[in-house]
Formats: sequence, structure tokens, C-alpha cells
Amino acid sequence: MIILKGVAKTYSSSYMGNMCALSDINLTFNDSEFVAITGRSGSGKTTLMNLIGGLDRPTLGEVIIDNTLLSSLTEVQSAKFRNEHIGFVFQAFYLEPKFSVLQNVALPLLIKGVAKKDREDCAKNILRTLGLEKMLLKKVSELSGGEMQRVAIARALVTNPKIILADEPTGNLDTENGKLVMDLLKSCVSSDRIVILVTHNEADVRYCNRIIKLCDGKVVEDERQ
Ligand code: ADP
Ligand code: MG
Repeated sequence: MIILKGVAKTYSSSYMGNMCALSDINLTFNDSEFVAITGRSGSGKTTLMNLIGGLDRPTLGEVIIDNTLLSSLTEVQSAKFRNEHIGFVFQAFYLEPKFSVLQNVALPLLIKGVAKKDREDCAKNILRTLGLEKMLLKKVSELSGGEMQRVAIARALVTNPKIILADEPTGNLDTENGKLVMDLLKSCVSSDRIVILVTHNEADVRYCNRIIKLCDGKVVEDERQ
């Protein structure tokens, strides 16, 4: 379960002054929810994802994941927490182009300190489950965008995280590949996993069971469907 209590984020810069990206966010996400975060560009979606993922800290308020208050963690503890509990998927994929698919998917386990054979077995398993075993030894630079995003999802899943955060994962994909990625994300939702997705795409929203809309850093809609 994820709890956000009175969360606000203000960015300060010398030339723009203070910029309030989020204010007074109060949200609870339960296990097994598939949530779409929508809203115009600049409405605070990525900021919200970064706060939930512990990539950034709120100016005010608390983010609590399964009884852990994220702001109580040191940088090192925070990185460990992310590695163990959260899988990230980004619009730009952020895979290592020179590495093979297998090496990319196994990377979070390398960071975790898992031995080579075990991490390769684990990565192979997840790739097999997602129907991607054929591309195991291909270099990422040889893949299409749709394939890269599916590999990025495999990498996000390899540590069996409780939370998947996907920031505009279909943003660079055509309709067909967008559907494949959404099917895959939907299949990631389970009784003890939350998937949160940022999207601009109406077709994506239909896959989700909860829609949260942001406007100017505030929640203006929160509906379950
Ligand atoms: P979205 O993902 O909905 O497009 P963001 O969360 O990226 O919105 O940004 C929300 C607001 O915060 C925007 O006005 C943006 O310019 C500002 N912002 C985001 N990141 C930073 C930053 N690192 N420094 C200063 N302002 C930022
Ligand atoms: Mg964004």
C-alpha cells in the first residue's frame, strides 16, 4: 500500500523563483490497483511518480510505502528500497544499447548482488513468461521501439517488485505496440502488486481501474471504473 499525506513539491530556481509542482496531494493506492495518472503537460505527473519512487523528496508531507516512511531513509537505504520494491518504466526506455536483452534484464539483480547464474536464470524466466525468449541474445540496439519497451518491462519485473511505475510508456510507440505494452502492464497487476501509469492516451486509460487527473499540481479527479 502506498500512502501520500499532504504531499507538496516546490522547485526553486534563481531565475524563475519558486515553482509549485504539486500541492496538498492526499492519495492511497491499494495492492492490485492499476492506476492511470493523466493531466496536461506540466501538471505534475512526473513529479508525483518521482516522489512515489523515492527518486525525489517532497517539500512537505509524507510518502509511506508498506509502513516505510520514504523521507526517513538515507540515500543508500533509499536506493536499496527502490531496487527491491519498485520497477521503473520510462518513455525513453533507458536500456543499455550495447548490452544484450538478457544482460539488460538481469541488471537490477547485478545491482542487488545476485550471482551471475542466478540472475541469468531469473532474467530468462521473466523473458520466457513475457514471450520474449527469442530475443534473449539480441543487442538492444537491434530491437524495435515496441520490443525495447517490452524488454524494459521485463527489467522492471525481474526483482518481483510490489510497485511498477511507468511514465508515459506508450509515448514513443505506435498504436499496435502501445497495445502490446498495455497488455503486458495489465498482466503485471496482481494481488500484491500496484501498477501506476502516466499516460495521455485515452486507449491506455481504458485498461486501468482507477483514473487520477492532475491539474496545476492538484488532484482534480479520482475515479474508479
Ligand atoms: P508533467 O510530467 O505532468 O508534464 P512535471 O511533473 O514534469 O509535469 O512538472 C510539473 C511542473 O514542475 C512543471 O511546471 C515543470 O516545469 C516543473 N518542474 C519539474 N521538474 C522540475 C525541476 N527539476 N526544476 C524546476 N522545475 C521543475
Ligand atoms: Mg512528465
